[in-house]
Amino acid sequence: MKPFTYERATSAAQAAAAVAGKPGAKFVAGGTNLLDLMKLQIEKPTHLVDVNTLALDRIEPANDGGLRIGALVRNSDLAADPRVRRDYGVLSRALVAGASGQLRNMATTAGNLLQRTRCPYFYDTNLPCNKRVPGSGCSALGGVSRQHAIVGTSDACIATHPSDMAVAMRVLDATVETTRADGATRRIPMADFHRLPGDTPHIESTLQAGELITAVHLPRPVGGTQIYHKVRDRASYAFALVSVAAIVQRDGTGRVALGGVAHKPWRVEAAEAEMPSGARAVTERLLAGARTTPENAYKLALAERTLAAMLAQARS
Ligand code: SF4
Repeated sequence: MKPFTYERATSAAQAAAAVAGKPGAKFVAGGTNLLDLMKLQIEKPTHLVDVNTLALDRIEPANDGGLRIGALVRNSDLAADPRVRRDYGVLSRALVAGASGQLRNMATTAGNLLQRTRCPYFYDTNLPCNKRVPGSGCSALGGVSRQHAIVGTSDACIATHPSDMAVAMRVLDATVETTRADGATRRIPMADFHRLPGDTPHIESTLQAGELITAVHLPRPVGGTQIYHKVRDRASYAFALVSVAAIVQRDGTGRVALGGVAHKPWRVEAAEAEMPSGARAVTERLLAGARTTPENAYKLALAERTLAAMLAQARS
């Protein structure tokens, strides 16, 4: 691990200013992803601003009838919150599907959104990776790509975003609350929070330098049958090959978002008009323009079949 300096934040604005004013500075909270990346010298921050001191660990009712989830709320606490389990079941289920019990006890809401890809080439510092070293090339193109993205990809990167929680937040129309270095706050819709790779896959969100996530807002509950189903290589502690977050209403209408298929949680609202027609019609629109490799083309059928099973479960 490279040497770094360390400070404890005293306020959200102070933390944002501290990171914005120092090249190479980063926030640290749960550290479940960052510390691993530092040990591998993939992340090499020169300064860490510890935000665990900030009072951002509460889940509170919001004025619009929704919930405000503090950035430091641990994944296990969020999954177990009675209001989340009652009104946002898709989120509770997605959280429990992620990582392991120990990791969920440490990982925070904000950190979950900002975790890095699990593309194996990103972690192998002997091989080219545009996300790790911009301009070096992409080893997954022409390499082992069974777990990689099939939509929203570019010639520079075909990595997926690993979060389960973010897929559920996308289907719930969550917004991300932030504080910037000048103290100004803003709300970013989940749809706009994560970026597609384009030719800058190392830039993964629309956060500005030093911008600190302070909360995630869930809008008022929408009801319906809420299901999260994650298909993976083993029953626990594995990332999604394909995951589906769905909210199905009594009349057959609903919402759907996919994980494991793109550089961000994948939702195409226009495809949801096809929900009453069934999974094939939805996934044809949802995954239109997919660009697959021989190793990951199976994800097209897997997404359709997973959604079909979930729609059948919702109707039963
Ligand atoms: Fe790197 Fe992205 Fe290519 Fe993986 S898919 S090797 S993360 S550039």
